[in-house]
Amino acid sequence: MKLAPVPITLTQCAKTFRGTRVLEPLDLAIGAGETLVLLGPSGCGKTTTLRIIAGLETPDAGGQVRFGDDDVTRLPIERRQVGMVFQSYALFPNLTVRGNIGYGLKINKTDAAVARQRVDELLAMMRLDAHADKPIDQLSGGQRQRVALARALALQPRVLLLDEPLTALDARLRDTLRSEMNTLLRSLGVTTIYVTHDQAEAMELGDRIVVMSAGRIEQIGTPRDIYFRPANRTVAQFVGTINRLAGQWRNGAFETTGGSIVLDQGIRAVRETQAPELFFRPEDARLADPAGAQLRGTIEAVSFLGERTRLTIGGAAPDALFIDVAGRIELARGTAVGIAIAPEGLIALA
Ligand code: ATP
Repeated sequence: MKLAPVPITLTQCAKTFRGTRVLEPLDLAIGAGETLVLLGPSGCGKTTTLRIIAGLETPDAGGQVRFGDDDVTRLPIERRQVGMVFQSYALFPNLTVRGNIGYGLKINKTDAAVARQRVDELLAMMRLDAHADKPIDQLSGGQRQRVALARALALQPRVLLLDEPLTALDARLRDTLRSEMNTLLRSLGVTTIYVTHDQAEAMELGDRIVVMSAGRIEQIGTPRDIYFRPANRTVAQFVGTINRLAGQWRNGAFETTGGSIVLDQGIRAVRETQAPELFFRPEDARLADPAGAQLRGTIEAVSFLGERTRLTIGGAAPDALFIDVAGRIELARGTAVGIAIAPEGLIALA
């Protein structure tokens, strides 16, 4: 399938509903063929942003949406050439799989032979050939999701807009479909905006991720940027950098409740901030002999999670710390432990 992706530019797009500002003026540039993920907690304005791009909402006065060089700010959805998939899929229950996928082509009065060929191509692409003539209610959740995607692609959109398309599925299926979605988006090369509150989905699918909270952009970056270099606390907490050390700097070492961390040259950048708080991820620390360890504490809880065990450790920092250990290690509550943090795992935040 050949699609002609466009770059998208949002300039100063804000949104107010009945006097309440839900989206602060937002600037965003999405590259042609890029998959951009909008990530954030419920109510942060992701869907509103997506709907402004779709043409289902108009930004407040002063905002502008461009597809390539075209100003589409006032253009209704049907004239923007966007394909959209919602969490609920919104499929037509009274139509077959083929009928759903071909719906837009029919409305558009596309030549019947062309339409048939396009639908066949999409049925094959989505591995729905065997189900072409089934009604929607005989399909599994994953199959319905693929029908919704095929329907969104049928009119060869310039932009694909996906709003939590995997949320309605159970966890196992979601994992499988996430990697399928990844393969599909890479092969289509269409400009895609993908809304989710799920960090793993955002990491796997996004060329770049926009982390939003309370109607604002907190950070825009590659999945690695967001994960390893969160710009602030909101982003850090949202992507699971949950351990906080509070303390003070003395002679190049960071002193906190449970001990002192001497920072070597490799992480001078962290030292130079002299930040009163440092953060790290549960997987960036390991247990060490309490005698010589940077930090010492006591195991307060042990959560066996299968491939890893998450330990809650008290006494090492003002808040409890979470440390992930792999393997078959068995630890008891009340054990005194040392903690060693990987130097590159320490993050100083504004
Ligand atoms: P979710 O994941 O729950 O959909 P979201 O990040 O997509 O969250 P939005 O749907 O963009 O958030 O909503 C942002 C805020 O705007 C919310 O507080 C919501 O209640 C409000 N809102 C959205 N649409 C409308 C509307 N049509 N009228 C009034 N308020 C609205």
